[in-house]
Amino acid sequence: MADTQIGLEENLKKYFGFEQFRGLQKQVITSLLNKEDCFVIMPTGGGKSLCYQLPALMQEGTAIVVSPLIALMKNQVDAIRGVSDHDGVAHVLNSSLSKTDVQQVKDDIENGITKLLYVAPESLTKEEYVDFLKQQKISFLAVDEAHCISEWGHDFRPEYRNLRKIIDRIGSDIPIIGLTATATPKVQEDILKNLQITDATTFQASFNRPNLFYEVRPKTANVDADITRFIKQNEGKSGIVYCLSRKRVEELAQVLQVNGIKAVPYHAGLDAKTRVKHQDMFLMEDTDVVVATIAFGMGIDKPDVRFVIHHDIPKSIESYYQETGRAGRDGGEGHCLAYYSYKDIEKLEKFMSGKPIAEQEIGHALLQEMVGYSETSMSRRQYILHYFGEEFDPATGEGGDMDDNMRNPKPQKEAVEEVKKLIKVIDAAGERYKSKDIVNILMGKNNAMISSHKLDQHDYFGSGKNKEKAFWTALIRQVLVARLIRKDIESYGTLKVLEAGHDFIKNGETFMMSDDHTYGDDSNQIVAA
Ligand code: ADP
Repeated sequence: MADTQIGLEENLKKYFGFEQFRGLQKQVITSLLNKEDCFVIMPTGGGKSLCYQLPALMQEGTAIVVSPLIALMKNQVDAIRGVSDHDGVAHVLNSSLSKTDVQQVKDDIENGITKLLYVAPESLTKEEYVDFLKQQKISFLAVDEAHCISEWGHDFRPEYRNLRKIIDRIGSDIPIIGLTATATPKVQEDILKNLQITDATTFQASFNRPNLFYEVRPKTANVDADITRFIKQNEGKSGIVYCLSRKRVEELAQVLQVNGIKAVPYHAGLDAKTRVKHQDMFLMEDTDVVVATIAFGMGIDKPDVRFVIHHDIPKSIESYYQETGRAGRDGGEGHCLAYYSYKDIEKLEKFMSGKPIAEQEIGHALLQEMVGYSETSMSRRQYILHYFGEEFDPATGEGGDMDDNMRNPKPQKEAVEEVKKLIKVIDAAGERYKSKDIVNILMGKNNAMISSHKLDQHDYFGSGKNKEKAFWTALIRQVLVARLIRKDIESYGTLKVLEAGHDFIKNGETFMMSDDHTYGDDSNQIVAA
């Protein structure tokens, strides 16, 4: 087995034809070959698959790869078969296989031919498969798209929760590698706990995509015309326009077509043949634009997507990051434009209203972050990266000027006294309230909760009346990103004061803030930029 560094690079070249490892790939692979549990957090396109494919190919035995989507598994199996002389090197095991096919898979595993076995989590619940795998030599188990484990992830799948139990049945000492492209600190914790790999070596790549340009525009009645104009200005470039509903996808694709733009629709309501055709047209450059629901994009590896437009705001920053991540994969230009109206937020909240309370709370908290992103006047890249637990300074960080806010900054003003007031109020009220409640307390706005908690009987109630509600909302967002306070996720967003915040009360000398954009409440009155 090749376990020296030279060996690794030779193997990389031999199997994949690549000259060098990217980012943290080599460290991950070394660690996995040493039978350590690993946890890999890399943005989409970062090269996660190779982290388990290469060590699987290099080792004896079969690596089990758990993946949520059959289409993704098939793509990967085809790719791996392409680098080997034996088709049996990679297989998918699922319920659609015939008896003969299943037998072939089993034979190949038993004969040591199969290095990678892709399974959906629900297939792993089948007794027959578990009994079989228990007797085989398993090199390790990879959990791809590991965020599916967490209710806080953007794609929660309950079957992922049972993985640990199944792994224990197959062999409790099998090394595990979890991989994801979207891990907020909360999701990260959920994954490690649930897979019981809290001692795993964690490899986290930066989520910064310096070549992407972020922009938010108010969504008005003229949004279709605005999108048409944008695409015409980018004629001949490939792009994706995301809409929430199938109906909107169809309508907008038509509007674009009528305006002479090469565009096709894509959503789950179209028959499979049309979907494949439209996807291929995009890949082969027979169409410039795909207007799609989020059904489009997973596993699509087109390197030169030049823009990703969101006609409707997505339900979380993770989703937004994931969807915009499809732009500029080749490192070239990638414009990420989102249309925002508070009405759309209300629509999304309405969709959630039938769900269990905990799910609603989570959905609401995630959506509020999206509101924050849209309304903020600070660096959008910094806002996204802060959400992923990463510090970023737009003045020095790569891509720091690549968004609308940094290109056209709003005037800043001193707010040191207000920041101190804010932190004191959060502290004095017992660090038990969310942003909205703290704003109400500062503004002296009574409601049932406030009077039942007797918050209106304190000096600080109404102590920030001299400022607008929007001022305090904006300030809280900026103080969060400055890491003087934090949002507690477990309690769905109550504000807590950080050490640096207590320090600021004593020693803080300056805090420059800018107002948020105000197109949130009355966007229909605003004329498109
Ligand atoms: P992820 O799963 O993180 O989204 P992929 O594994 O699909 O990313 O990799 C993205 C692209 O980068 C693929 O086309 C892959 O072949 C390519 N790639 C991965 N590792 C390397 C490398 N070391 N050198 C060159 N290309 C690589």
